[in-house]
Amino acid sequence: MPANTIVSVTCIPMRLPFHHWSPAPLFAGRPRDKLDSALVRLETQDGTVAWGESYCVEPTALVAIFGTLIAPLAVGRDADDAALLPGMQRTLHNLGRSGPVVHALAGLDIALWDLRAKRAGVPLYELLGGKRRDRVRVYASLLQYYGDAERLDAVTTQALGEGYTEIKLHERTSDALAAVRRATGAGVPIMVDTNCAWLPDEAHDAIAAMREHDPFWIEEPLWPPEDDHALKQLKQLCRVPLAVGENAASTYALKQMIANHSVDYVQPSVIKLGLSAAWDIARHCVDTPVVCAPQVAFFGPGYLASLHLIAAQQADVALERLYVELAHVPYGKRVPIQNGFVQVPDTPGLGADPESELAEGRYAS
Ligand SMILES: [Mg+2]
Repeated sequence: MPANTIVSVTCIPMRLPFHHWSPAPLFAGRPRDKLDSALVRLETQDGTVAWGESYCVEPTALVAIFGTLIAPLAVGRDADDAALLPGMQRTLHNLGRSGPVVHALAGLDIALWDLRAKRAGVPLYELLGGKRRDRVRVYASLLQYYGDAERLDAVTTQALGEGYTEIKLHERTSDALAAVRRATGAGVPIMVDTNCAWLPDEAHDAIAAMREHDPFWIEEPLWPPEDDHALKQLKQLCRVPLAVGENAASTYALKQMIANHSVDYVQPSVIKLGLSAAWDIARHCVDTPVVCAPQVAFFGPGYLASLHLIAAQQADVALERLYVELAHVPYGKRVPIQNGFVQVPDTPGLGADPESELAEGRYAS
């Protein structure tokens, strides 16, 4: 069998217990005490192991998808075959154009990039045309505090004390933004992610109330997030930059947003759409007013893939980092965040493999 034949593709759930100095926030209607995604482990005939990451909130479903759909189509195939992933996308398209099957393919895509870079003996950014920066600014992305001004102030002050110079909130009120603005003072970028808080006729007034506290962008202001027409109208009216994209089902949807100028920042998620798709979007933004600012609310190979993308793309944007205390910090030693920056790894592939406790599934349940 040729050296680059895929011999296994498996999925290892990664459910990292976390603490954010406050009671557990709600996610998908239930209290959240773990941050979930899934590692994708790809091995070729010559023993090379590469890693990807898929969006995952239901590990049982994703593990089954890898076992019954992904592995049977990938094992035995040449990992260098450029038609492999596009072919699988077409073969599986009847199962839905978004959701867990697409997220599984995104993880496989990242693993194939890691594999290609490892086999070429180069850091992944070299396959993206080289790095434009040696280190990338990181922003502290706070979880929900439901407007609790005291906690917002304390956590923001803590993040600034650790060297972060940009903050993102997952809040919905101008009072919450005001509390954080008081903590940072003027000049510190504060992004406000509302997670699709408002219907189109509610959004304008809510954003207008925030304007005096100088939000850097408002993220996902509208429900439903794919209402491109309402988004464009809002952008023209509200005079605050808008950021959207993590819930987009395809590059097609994101390219529509760019073509329509309905957003200021477009936010592909590599663990939902894949690195190939996100890189396509980053290049598509060049020579447009829209900036590619990937969504990176995860910690594994997808985080490193996003780091390489940001290092290689034209626009200089910060890397998102959920600001929490994790039971285990992936790549904490190999690719640490120091003083609000992370060095772009120069070793082959993504730059680091998941630590053995992650690879062996210690945090799988
Ligand atoms: Mg978001």
